[in-house]
Amino acid sequence: MNLWFEDGTIILKAQNTIFKVYKGPLVQHSPVFRDMLMLPQPETEQVASGPATVTLFDPVADVSSLLHALMPRNIVRLSGTYDTSWNDACACLRMAHKYQMDQLLDESLRSLRRFYPDTYKLFQDRRSTTPQNSARAISVVNLARLVEAPSLLPMAIVECCTLGSEIVNGYKRPDLTEEHLSLSDMGLCFQAKDKLIEARIRGFHQLFESKVRRGCTAPDADNAYFDRLYFDLTDGNVPGLYTPNVWDSFSGYMSARIPWVCDSCKQAFVAEDVAQQKRIFEQLPALVGVAVPGWGTPPSPRWRPCRK
Ligand SMILES: [Zn+2]
Repeated sequence: MNLWFEDGTIILKAQNTIFKVYKGPLVQHSPVFRDMLMLPQPETEQVASGPATVTLFDPVADVSSLLHALMPRNIVRLSGTYDTSWNDACACLRMAHKYQMDQLLDESLRSLRRFYPDTYKLFQDRRSTTPQNSARAISVVNLARLVEAPSLLPMAIVECCTLGSEIVNGYKRPDLTEEHLSLSDMGLCFQAKDKLIEARIRGFHQLFESKVRRGCTAPDADNAYFDRLYFDLTDGNVPGLYTPNVWDSFSGYMSARIPWVCDSCKQAFVAEDVAQQKRIFEQLPALVGVAVPGWGTPPSPRWRPCRK
């Protein structure tokens, strides 16, 4: 969407970019913009023949995301919702917090929940299991702290734990702003990583308990296959067990390495694998060391905007 409306009523300048947009939505949603745009401001450049120009001291990408969310769109849609990108959701959350836009803040959190779910239902439907850049979780941890939305933290911390030593490099946003975890969150990740590895190993051992495959139709052959898979992973011949990647399914290893096992074993193994992941998800706040009231239940009024 082109953020230059010929009949716009305000010109916003951010870094070296200008946008000609409408005051109305900004004023309606934000008391900060209401004060900034409705009251005469000394720094506002009033041009006799056109709308005033107001300079915003925000990254242009954040301003653009905000305006995309608020300004009229060139398409009309009566069903479904707009698909918000991760970048837009984060940018809108930052801007909503700064400019006190309660509705946009709730909407941004709702979008981010699809990437960093706090209910098992959303976890199953989550947008991406393998993000292109896990370092972006650093940004989400910082945002969750900023707006006091702890429900985003468990999944974001798990993603941070998969970064390894890269965690110290921080995250470079598309606008090249660099973000780092606070030292206390860095410490939290060190501790969480150990707990996640423990939980993964515990779940793995339960997966291989004999009761899981009690319906096996070819026990002699399948027991040997599953023993091989078990020892390959525990001996480290096949890497993947001793990691904090708790969402890396063991069913995938079964399909790849012992595809010949009976259907009953396959189904039982997959079902138990899913059950183990569900158990880890349910315990996640405790595993990563954050308190999340209402974890696992749909959002409630606990998401109140933070005012500092
Ligand atoms: Zn079997």
